[in-house]
Amino acid sequence: MSSEKIIDGKLISSQIKNEVKEETQKLFSEKGIKPGLAFILVGDDPASQIYVRNKGRACEEIGFHSITNVLPETTEENELLELIHKYNHDKNIHGLLVQLPLPKHIDEERIIEAIDYKKDVDGFHPHNVGRLLTGHKCFIPCTPFGIVEMMKRYNIETKGKNVVIIGRSNIVGKPMASLFLRKDLNSTVTVCHSATRDIREFSLNADILVAAIGKPEFVKKEMIKDGAVIIDVGINRIEDKSSPKGTRLIGDVDFKDCYDKSSMITPVPGGVGLMTIAMLMRNTLDAASGKIF
Ligand code: NAP
Repeated sequence: MSSEKIIDGKLISSQIKNEVKEETQKLFSEKGIKPGLAFILVGDDPASQIYVRNKGRACEEIGFHSITNVLPETTEENELLELIHKYNHDKNIHGLLVQLPLPKHIDEERIIEAIDYKKDVDGFHPHNVGRLLTGHKCFIPCTPFGIVEMMKRYNIETKGKNVVIIGRSNIVGKPMASLFLRKDLNSTVTVCHSATRDIREFSLNADILVAAIGKPEFVKKEMIKDGAVIIDVGINRIEDKSSPKGTRLIGDVDFKDCYDKSSMITPVPGGVGLMTIAMLMRNTLDAASGKIF
């Protein structure tokens, strides 16, 4: 298996981080502004802890000011809201990120809506979601934003293409669909989900297939068209006795099975996952420089 068809998330994400780093230095030297990003993590979910740690490291590498707040699982909704209000009014904080999922006793919707939309670098606030759908300037959720950026940098044509997205979550599937519908990408979009009767009927027609389901190796070669571009968003940890950790990560696409039939394909790991943090850095810089609002 050669690597020529692989869309290299490691390469693109490091290019983006370098660009953000340079622009950050320029913003500081010209205007004295240092982008600031605050993280709030409630509870001790191990995956969330890793995500927040990695995001904090990226801030350090780039030269952002960052603060991580780890709150206990028992935190009351009002305490969390107070902290959000504090950062909403903090002039040194340009981006505010509450790591999801939240404990069950906290109303996620209320929390997301409490974040100042001008600091909503995750792009989950209804104000940003609405603006994304209407094609206006906004913070774009980092994972779909990263996918678009990868495709642009690999010169993958989207205009007039049939795009099929499997998965309709608020953080991946739906914003992905909104982006492909916008005039700059100009695709024809189909979104499949768990109630779709026959996914294959749609996926076989996809010039570009985005899998964001959370089901290991769900997409097989029988489901894709010859020459399709395959974007795998899935991050699934499975048992692997041969690996030192006893586990490994795989995507929602059976990579080996689909490789020959695809024209371009993202690997897992090393694909979309790395782009998410890079685009969070981009959004935070844009928040600090006032590029969006
Ligand atoms: P999610 O909120 O669980 O949503 C999964 C979506 O897939 C839902 O819309 C669900 O349909 C649909 N689905 C589930 N099983 C299906 C099936 N058998 N057939 C068709 N559709 C099915 O997941 P998510 O947050 O979007 O994440 C999806 C995957 O991407 C996960 O593996 C996650 O770890 C990964 N992810 C990666 C990144 C990254 O940085 N690369 C970021 C976010 C997520 P219903 O709506 O009908 O339930």
